[in-house]
Amino acid sequence: MQRFFCHHDRFHVYQVKSILDEAGIPCFVKNELVQGAIGEIPPMDSEPEIWLQDDEWQPKAQRVLKRFYEEQAEISPDNKNDWACLHCGQMNEYQFAICWQCQNPRISAEK
Ligand SMILES: [Zn+2]
Repeated sequence: MQRFFCHHDRFHVYQVKSILDEAGIPCFVKNELVQGAIGEIPPMDSEPEIWLQDDEWQPKAQRVLKRFYEEQAEISPDNKNDWACLHCGQMNEYQFAICWQCQNPRISAEK
């Protein structure tokens, strides 16, 4: 098994996890609840992590993640406004291309 991704923002970790799930890549999140366990684990080790079930998935997972960031970059450059999801009403930060609540893609209401 192999650690694929880690980030201090839990929501971002779960966003990446859902992208990998959608691509059919077997993976799971580690350290998701340890942030409350102060004193037992050094802070640097307590960021949520995504692990791949099998190292063979690494190249595909990297491609999926790279494409995700490329898509985000296309959406983000001149739009720095948070956006409300049209499906569930959740407010999302501008850098996210999909709703972290319901995983539906960002759709612009105005235009
Ligand atoms: Zn939503």
